[in-house]
Amino acid sequence: MSQQGIIFDIQRFTISDGPGMRTEVFLKGCPLRCRWCSNPEGLSQTLQPGVYSAKCIARENCGDCLAVCAHDALVFSEGKLSGIDRERCVGCFRCAEACPADAIRKWGQVMSAADCMEIIRRDKAFYDRSGGGVTLSGGEPLMQSDFAAQLLRACKEEGFHTCCDTALQAKWENVEQILPYTDLIISDIKHMDGRQHKEYTGVSNERILDNLRRLSRTETQIILRIPVIPGVNDNDDNIEKTADFILRDMGGRVETLQLLSYMRLGLEKYQSLGMAYGMDGMTFDRGSFQERVRKIRDYFRGRGIDCRIGTSGEED
Ligand code: SF4
Ligand code: SF4
Repeated sequence: MSQQGIIFDIQRFTISDGPGMRTEVFLKGCPLRCRWCSNPEGLSQTLQPGVYSAKCIARENCGDCLAVCAHDALVFSEGKLSGIDRERCVGCFRCAEACPADAIRKWGQVMSAADCMEIIRRDKAFYDRSGGGVTLSGGEPLMQSDFAAQLLRACKEEGFHTCCDTALQAKWENVEQILPYTDLIISDIKHMDGRQHKEYTGVSNERILDNLRRLSRTETQIILRIPVIPGVNDNDDNIEKTADFILRDMGGRVETLQLLSYMRLGLEKYQSLGMAYGMDGMTFDRGSFQERVRKIRDYFRGRGIDCRIGTSGEED
């Protein structure tokens, strides 16, 4: 039987997460709460309404959402829909269906692996030509490991290259579930200090580091990333410890280390969900930060680690 998964997006023709041209399936739900996360719609595993106030054509001209909401959960300000009272909302999505202006978006949908395969198959010719394939991302795909394993297996059965972009905050059994059908794992190290890791992501790094050690003893290809966040994890001590971990604990078994420079992304989505962005108030000088990232890259290279800035070495 085809497993059901909760998906918040399927993007076609992506080029950042794995080789060639890819179809990327984003699974909803994540155990981490990284303050810089750019996909807040992927954090909760439940389906959520998102409000895009600028699109609302105003209560006095329309009011269709109000007519269908039986829970008095819609919040208006200056005549336009401005938010949703999440305590009252029961997630029926009648408002999103009724809105003629796309001012209310339903974040998430339940799909079977077979439904996803129907979309994935459409791009088979592009995978063949570009050496691409399918990437599961999120959120954290391993929160839905049964579904992820079934979908990856179906991709392998059709001969597609497979990649899973995971934070590895999962039981090793769940990682093992997907490995037979996964050509490439993309994961990251956010901070080597457990307490700092917990402060900025909501969880300690023990399980993640342990999974990375175990993963490095398998045959699976690994791309590792560091989201470089100014003032959080870009100090010399953390960078040195990260290099030590890669070389000593993972035996250097990392295809490439990618440095992802901090960008303020996803702010509109935070607003649509009525959520606060965790890096508000942080200021930094972009020019000197970029220089710092280049120095970090050079340091890793000096330790013999293939390190690039960005997902395709665009700044090299
Ligand atoms: S999802 Fe349902 S309960 Fe929530 S605001 Fe929309 S109509 Fe009301
Ligand atoms: S249905 Fe859409 S456009 Fe109409 S009032 Fe509600 S949010 Fe605005």
